[in-house]
Amino acid sequence: MKIAILGGGLAGCATAFKCKEAGLEPDLYEAGPGLAGGASGNDTGSYSPRFSALRGPESDFYSAAYFLALKQFEHFDYIDWNPCGALHLITDEKKDRQLRRTAANWGWGADHMRLLDREEASKVANMELQRAALYLPHSGTVSPRKLCAAYANGISSYFNRPIDSLEEIDADVIVLACGPAVSHFAPELPLTPVRGQVTEIRATERSARLSCSISYEGYVTPAKEGVHTVGATFQPSVDSTLSDTEDDLENISKLKEALPQLQDEFEVVSHRAAVRASSRDRFPIVGPLTDRPGLYVTTGHGSYGLLSTLMAAELLADMILDRPYCLPNSVTKILSPERFKPKQDR
Ligand SMILES: Cc1cc2nc3c(=O)[nH]c(=O)nc-3n(C[C@H](O)[C@H](O)[C@H](O)COP(=O)(O)OP(=O)(O)OC[C@H]3O[C@@H](n4cnc5c(N)ncnc54)[C@H](O)[C@@H]3O)c2cc1C
Repeated sequence: MKIAILGGGLAGCATAFKCKEAGLEPDLYEAGPGLAGGASGNDTGSYSPRFSALRGPESDFYSAAYFLALKQFEHFDYIDWNPCGALHLITDEKKDRQLRRTAANWGWGADHMRLLDREEASKVANMELQRAALYLPHSGTVSPRKLCAAYANGISSYFNRPIDSLEEIDADVIVLACGPAVSHFAPELPLTPVRGQVTEIRATERSARLSCSISYEGYVTPAKEGVHTVGATFQPSVDSTLSDTEDDLENISKLKEALPQLQDEFEVVSHRAAVRASSRDRFPIVGPLTDRPGLYVTTGHGSYGLLSTLMAAELLADMILDRPYCLPNSVTKILSPERFKPKQDR
């Protein structure tokens, strides 16, 4: 079976990896000069599930994705994986309700997810915090850019190959994994570009003490080689990849608001802007596009692609090979592109 994957970001590379693991030999086509030129190109990212108050297909997807990713990261050597733990700060009443219900309803053991009061959270962070938090001891940081390289190791990859028409490709199966550009091939899918920027700041004496990843209305990672990654701005319907200093100021000001201990003058070391793909219901779009046999999609990974793309890849490999699915029907249904079709057309 000839398989072509369009896009060399996390979604495309993870799909290629899972196909290869299943004994297939996919070809990967990337518009840019190398892997991870789009949203997946940051040096450091923070991985945690997208929380929801209730347990349901969404939480089941992110739970499965989280544990699959943990198992996989362990096997890669050069992805800068740091399972340093993540604290999700309870910043207001809404977050308080949501995270308390997540902890109560998701069914994770306390060794994987637990609520900490302010003192306990401060101990974990190695820094005084003003808030209680939901703690995921095995969450942390990884390099998305290096993860793409690890997934695509040994995959036939073709660079500077922007595919304009599917007729250009001779394959039995085509997987659209090109982020927001999936709209070019499947304009019926409700995808929105969401621009975002991360800012890398030089660690100060105080900030260097931070020992885990912290999430609030943004996130900060512990210093790696003296540099923290602070992210990320969120601008729906903007598709510019130009970095700007206003976004740096926004990232730093949110950091200072969340961690009042850190009122330091931070030196910006670098910044990078890119465009996420977000679906109308903010959930990934994964599965066959039924209008054309052999055509599949994986996109809409929003701000959670470090976890969701690998799980999506495993599911696509099952679908392509006609194996029993790794996820229950309740989950595959809410991932399916079909969910956006009017009921009578499904
Ligand atoms: C600033 C920022 C910070 C983020 N931080 C985090 C984080 O901390 N944790 C987390 O989990 N997620 C984070 N995300 C989200 C995560 O990066 C995305 O969910 C993920 O990268 C999406 O991967 P993708 O492969 O779908 O898209 P992309 O990485 O954008 O890959 C799509 C690829 O397709 C290629 N392409 C486009 N058109 C064509 C074509 N016609 N033919 C061939 N190739 C084509 C593009 O060049 C690109 O390389 C962040 C995103 C941004 C923007």
